[in-house]
Amino acid sequence: MAIYEIVKFPNPVLTTPAAEVAKITSNLLRVLDNMYETMKFANGIGLAGPQVNILKRIAVVDVEDGKGRLDLINPVILDGRDEEVGPDGCLSIPGLYGDTKRFKWIRVRMQNHEGQFIEFEETDFRARCIQHEIDHLDGILFTSKAIRLYRDDEVAVSGKKKKA
Ligand SMILES: [Zn+2]
Repeated sequence: MAIYEIVKFPNPVLTTPAAEVAKITSNLLRVLDNMYETMKFANGIGLAGPQVNILKRIAVVDVEDGKGRLDLINPVILDGRDEEVGPDGCLSIPGLYGDTKRFKWIRVRMQNHEGQFIEFEETDFRARCIQHEIDHLDGILFTSKAIRLYRDDEVAVSGKKKKA
C-alpha cells in the first residue's frame, strides 16, 4: 500500500468533474486500498479520487460509526430526504469548516468490487459524508454551498471536527 499526496485548494483538479469508471480492475482496487490508507493517515472520514489527483468516480468512506469501510465506485444519489444543516470539513481545505445543508437520508446506487450495481440507504453522518464525496466527483467543494464558513478554532464541539 501507499500514501498519496492530498491535493489542496485551489488546485483546479478539485473543481474538475471526474470520469466514470469503465472497468473495475485489480489496479483500481489497489488504488482504493491506497486511498483508504491515505484517508486514515490524514485522520479523515472520507476521500474522493480528485483529492489524490485521480479524476475517476471513486471514493472511500469510514465515519468511524462501527459500519466500517465503504468503497464508492460510480456512485449516484437516487433519492434524498430531510435536509438538515450540519458541519462539513475537507482534507483538501485544511482549517476551514462550514455549515452545509445535506440530506439526512439518501438512497445510493453504485458498483461493488465485482462490478455489480447495488443500491442501499444511508442516514445521518455517513449519508452526509457520502454526499460530500459525490460532490467531489462532480468538482463541487463544500465551500461553494456552505451557508456559513468558520475557522478550525471556532468549532465548539471537537467531535464534529471531521474532514472528508
Ligand atoms: Zn472533501
